[in-house]
Order: sequence, then C-alpha cells, then structure tokens
Amino acid sequence: MKDSYQREITYLRLSVTDLCNLRCRYCMPAEGVVKKQHSEICSVEELVEMAAAAADCGVTKVRLTGGEPLVRRGILEICRGIRALPGVRELCLTTNGTLLPELAAPLREAGVDRLNVSLDTLRPDRYAYMTRRGELSQVLQGLEAAEQAGFSNTKVNVVLMAGFNDDEIGDFVALTERYPLEVRFIELMPIGEADKGYLPGDTVLERCPGLVPVEASGVARRWRLPGGRGLVGLIEPMSHRFCGSCDRIRITADGRLKPCLHSSQEIPLRGLHGEELRRAIREGAAAKPERHHMAEEGRSQAGRDMNEIGG
Ligand code: SAM
Ligand code: SF4
Repeated sequence: MKDSYQREITYLRLSVTDLCNLRCRYCMPAEGVVKKQHSEICSVEELVEMAAAAADCGVTKVRLTGGEPLVRRGILEICRGIRALPGVRELCLTTNGTLLPELAAPLREAGVDRLNVSLDTLRPDRYAYMTRRGELSQVLQGLEAAEQAGFSNTKVNVVLMAGFNDDEIGDFVALTERYPLEVRFIELMPIGEADKGYLPGDTVLERCPGLVPVEASGVARRWRLPGGRGLVGLIEPMSHRFCGSCDRIRITADGRLKPCLHSSQEIPLRGLHGEELRRAIREGAAAKPERHHMAEEGRSQAGRDMNEIGG
C-alpha cells in the first residue's frame, strides 16, 4: 500500500491501551488519565481484526504499544492472534519494562519477536522522579528476564532531556560495550506534557567522539563503539526530520487510525469489517501528510497525549 508521496506503508503501530502503571513527566499528567469505559477501548477481537485488515493491505510489521501494553488485559491473546496472521512477519512491542520479570517468557511464547524497553536513566532516584512511581530495579530485572526468555536485538529507548539525563549519555553508550543491546536516543518531541529539555541527537556524537558509523535502520542513524557488542542509534524527529522514509500508520486504543503521529487527522475504524475496513485503512495511509510541522508550529498538532497514541 502506498501513500500519495509514493512511500510504501508496511508498519503498523497499534496501541492496545491508554493506561499505564507509570506517570513519566513528559508523557502523562501526574493524576493519570480518566479511565475510559470498557466499551470505548477496542476488544481483543477488534484489535486482531484491524491488524489483519492492515496486513491484507500490505503491513508486514506490527508494534504493540500504549500506554503500557503489558497492563492490558488479554495482551497475550492479542499477541498470539496477531502473530498468527499470515502477512505479519514481525511482531514487536514497546514497553516500560517493569512487568517483564513476569511477562517476558509468556510474551516470547505468544510469538513476540522483539522488544523495545524505555529507560531514560540508570539512576534509581532519577528513575523514581521521572516516572513518579517506578522502580529502576524492576526494569533491569525485566531486561534480564527478556534475555533469559530468548529475546535478542532488544532496544533500549532513551529520551534525551537536558538537565535530566544528558550527563548519563556516556553511561548508556558504555552499556553497548558489554551488552548486545541497541541503545536508541530519542529527541524529546513537543507533544502532550513535554515542554522543556529538548536536546538535539547530535549531542550524543559530540559527547562520544569514538563512535563509528554503521548502516542506518529505518528512521534510526546508527553507530557502534569499536569492539562493542551493541549499537547506538539516534531517532531525531526534530533535528533530522525523517518523514521522507516514514513507512508507518498508527491505530489508537479507541480504534482510530492516525496517518501521522503529529497531525490531528483521525479515521474511525470501529464498526467496519471486511472490505470496508480495508478501504478505510488504505484511505488512511493515502492521507499521510508529506511531513510534520513541529519546527514551524512549535508544538505537535497530534491533539492527544503520547500515552494515547503510543509514540
Ligand atoms: N509505555 C510504553 C513505553 O514507555 O515504552 C509504550 C508507550 S510510550 C508512549 C512509547 C515511547 O514514547 C516511549 O519510549 C516514551 O519514552 C516515548 N515518548 C513519550 N513521550 C515522548 C515525547 N514527548 N518525545 C519523545 N518520546 C516520547
Ligand atoms: Fe507510561 Fe510509557 Fe508514557 Fe512512561 S512513556 S508514562 S511508561 S506510556
């Protein structure tokens, strides 16, 4: 399926809940979100049906996200259902990692191929502050559980924030020397709760001049430490706009297709089935804007917080 700028759309990010067990300061308000009625959120069957229709239209990679996907009741059923779809070659999941100690092995058995674990600091006090309630040790145990469950190529997502974790860039990069992880630094985007602390991805290269470039992967520029086991990636939606290589669509937990993370346009999918559903998905992909306008507008036009869209 192609959009109107001839980009091939093969990647679906599917949000399975807007709820979360953490309250990261740049993502969610301190009081959390008003819990939606059960009926407002897509059922397991609806989520699998939407993923199936997207796969019929040419999607080959699905990422489950949220909110925190691991707090979603039925998450294993959702994984199994999507992994069984003939067109889906890769099923990934983005998580804060806190529930991986219990869930890494069942997720692997349910067919999840790869994990991205979000971790913005390696210091327990900072982690508790930024997440307003999390414990760093749970995430570290979660990473270990993921490795033991047989996950490889796990990525660690670090949102770069001036005055919060920029003094830890070297510590995160050093992790890639010892562990076969890809540490991905992500530029903070002006969306939802995020207002201050933006730092360009190039800061990582200035602080770590020893990094050697390797091939890019999707929207990530990548490097490695000489002799290191892992990789360092930069996701730079602000300073190196990568919209030209965007291959993704998003579906929110309440069943609305977002052609672009940063546009307010949404296409309701609930209640559609078969060819009607596939047509709506193709129309949504075709409606992708050429690029986002965060630099000009100063804010994302997403119209929702990140926990509702899934990043
Ligand atoms: N709860 C899961 C997690 O934290 O990985 C999945 C959902 S979370 C919204 C997905 C990703 O979006 C996380 O890596 C998070 O750090 C990132 N994120 C949230 N708000 C952001 C912002 N304003 N700018 C950049 N990344 C953001
Ligand atoms: Fe929850 Fe992920 Fe948002 Fe943090 S970034 S509050 S873990 S959804």
